[in-house]
Amino acid sequence: MDQEMLQRALAHGRRFVRYGKPASYIPELASKDPSKLGLAVCDMKGNIQTVGNCEDKFTMQSISKVIALILALEQNGFDNVFSKVGLEPTGDSFNSTVRLDHLTNNKPFNPMINAGAIAVTSTIRGGSLEERKKISIEFARKITGNPDLDVDYEVFRSEAETGFKNRAIIYLMRSNGIIEGSCEEHLELYFLFCSLACSCRDLSVFAATLANNGVNPLTGEQLIQPHTVKLVRSLMVTCGMYDYSGEFAATVGLPSKSGVGGGIISCAIGQYGLATYGPALDDKGNSIGGLKMLEYLSEEMDLSIF
Ligand code: GLN
Repeated sequence: MDQEMLQRALAHGRRFVRYGKPASYIPELASKDPSKLGLAVCDMKGNIQTVGNCEDKFTMQSISKVIALILALEQNGFDNVFSKVGLEPTGDSFNSTVRLDHLTNNKPFNPMINAGAIAVTSTIRGGSLEERKKISIEFARKITGNPDLDVDYEVFRSEAETGFKNRAIIYLMRSNGIIEGSCEEHLELYFLFCSLACSCRDLSVFAATLANNGVNPLTGEQLIQPHTVKLVRSLMVTCGMYDYSGEFAATVGLPSKSGVGGGIISCAIGQYGLATYGPALDDKGNSIGGLKMLEYLSEEMDLSIF
């Protein structure tokens, strides 16, 4: 991609960051500088171009829901995972409690909202909690091509201390049998995923792996089966941007996933993996600068899958 194009996208995104603010539910996120903005693009040969604050570290938060889903699917298969979670968008926010009554009788709507991701995470196997954590971190390292990727343990602690809604959600699902085993252990693994610390560069490789049908373009390794990639990308289109997914499909049109840490990944299938970082969020929890940069690039380069 033309480096000038990246610069122009960044300049465009910068005009909007003042309209958002960082997530405020834990101090580690609330204290982030809202003016930060970065963009990284990885092509199918593994060439990475970056602009802005692309080396800044931030936590994946909901972007990790995609990694958890892939790992769960690769370990357990479609039927097992989707016996616990659906494939339908909700139109509600990611941690909405509006439909909690739904959880006492049904499975959560999809793997991209908290309830669904927690159910998915509960299926990730390993001999012990420590083993499950190790397998999960190792998989995240492979998928981002970064052997040093690790957990931000300050964020992890804060997530665990304040995650009362997530606790309520998992216990409701435990009551109807969607969740088996120890809720506290599953939650610990879920919070660990949320707290994976990464840069735009790392996430661009992850997005490129999805855009490249499961082959990490840095290593050439087939990490995800193509049919899993297809399924995951479809869920990213319908549910990846919280309750903004419909409008995002119309304005950007790429399988994407955002996190309240300020990151967004986007897949231009067969072309690029894109990753943006900007902690200033809009009222739906999406990075404002990130959205604007992706809108700009999609429009200028005609990237929409539609
Ligand atoms: N840690 C957050 C939560 O579980 C992640 C949410 C998000 O990025 N949308 O509520």
